[in-house]
Amino acid sequence: MDISLVIPLLNEEESLPELSAWIEKVMLENNYSYEIIFVDDGSTDHSWCVIEQLRSKNQNIKGIKFQRNYGKSAGLNEGFRAAQGDVIITMDADLQDSPDEIPELRRMVIEEGYDLVSGWKKKRYDNKLTKNLPSKIFNAAARQMSKIKLHDFNCGLKSYSRKVVKSIEVYGDMHRYVPVLAKWSGFKKIGEKVVEHRPRKYGVSKFGWTRFINGFLDLMTIFFMGKFGKRPMHFFGLWGTFFFLIGFGFSVYLVISKIALNTPLTNNPGFYMAMTAAIIGIQLFMAGFIGELVARNAVGRNSYLIEKKEGL
Ligand code: UDP
Ligand code: MG
Repeated sequence: MDISLVIPLLNEEESLPELSAWIEKVMLENNYSYEIIFVDDGSTDHSWCVIEQLRSKNQNIKGIKFQRNYGKSAGLNEGFRAAQGDVIITMDADLQDSPDEIPELRRMVIEEGYDLVSGWKKKRYDNKLTKNLPSKIFNAAARQMSKIKLHDFNCGLKSYSRKVVKSIEVYGDMHRYVPVLAKWSGFKKIGEKVVEHRPRKYGVSKFGWTRFINGFLDLMTIFFMGKFGKRPMHFFGLWGTFFFLIGFGFSVYLVISKIALNTPLTNNPGFYMAMTAAIIGIQLFMAGFIGELVARNAVGRNSYLIEKKEGL
C-alpha cells in the first residue's frame, strides 16, 4: 500500500465528508493505493456515524473509536500502530491542512529518503496574538533544545516512512514534538516543506489556553529526557553532591568555631542555611538514585534500532 493517512479527530462531524472527498480525489488523480484511518478520540457529536457512512461508500476508509477522549497523541499512536502503508501521512481533520500537499510529502520520503517531513505553516490563518506569537517562541525553544532545524514542530501535516512510525511511541501530549521522538529513536533525516494553511471552516479549536502550559512542561521533559533520561544520576547526583558538600562543610566550620571561639551557632542564620543546603543535597541525591532504579527497569532500556548487520 502506498499511503496510510492517519487523522485524529474530536467532534469534527461537519468537516469529515468534505475532507474525505478531497483526499479521495487526490488519491485517484495520483493513482495511489491508500487507506484513511480516522481515529475518533471520544467525540460526543456524530463523527463516528459519519465515519461509518463514509466507510459504507469507500472501503479504503477505516476507523478507530476511543471509549473516551484520550488526546491527540493517543489518536496518532493508535493510528500509527494500525497503519499499513509505506508512507504514513498525518493531518488534522478540521480542513486546516490541505490534502493537495500529499503527493509532494510522499515524494520527499520515497525519492529523497527523508525519514520524516514536517509541514511548515509559513502563513498561518489563526489568531495572531494568542497562537502565532507563542508558537514562534515555542518553536525557537524546541529548535534550541532538540537541535532539529524545523520552523513548525506542531504542524498536524507530516509524512513519515513506515519504519519511523513503527518504532516511536507518541504518549502524553508529545504530539507537539513527534520529530524529537523520531530523533531520539535514531532517525536523522528530518526535513520540512512549506504547506498551505487554511482557516478553520467548521467547529472550534480543541485546545484552549492550557496548550501553552502543557507545551512548556513537555518541552522541559524533552530537554531533560534528551540529556539525562538514560542517566538521571549525572544530573541529580552532581547537584546533590554540590549542595551537600557546601552545607556539610559550612556546618562543620560553624561547629568548630563554636567549640573553639564560642561564636553563636543556633542564632546564626548561616547555620540554618547550611543545614538546608545539606538536606536539599541529600534529597537531590536520592531523587537521582530513584531515577536510576526506574531507568534500570524501563521497558525500552535496551531496545536499539539496528540499521545493518553482517554475518549474523
Ligand atoms: N484532536 C483530537 N483530540 C483532542 C484534541 C484535538 O483528536 O483531544 C484533533 C482535532 O479534532 C483536530 C486535530 O486534533 O483534527 C487538531 O486540533 P485543532 O484543530 O483543534 O488544533 P489547532 O488547529 O487549534 O492547533
Ligand atoms: Mg486546527
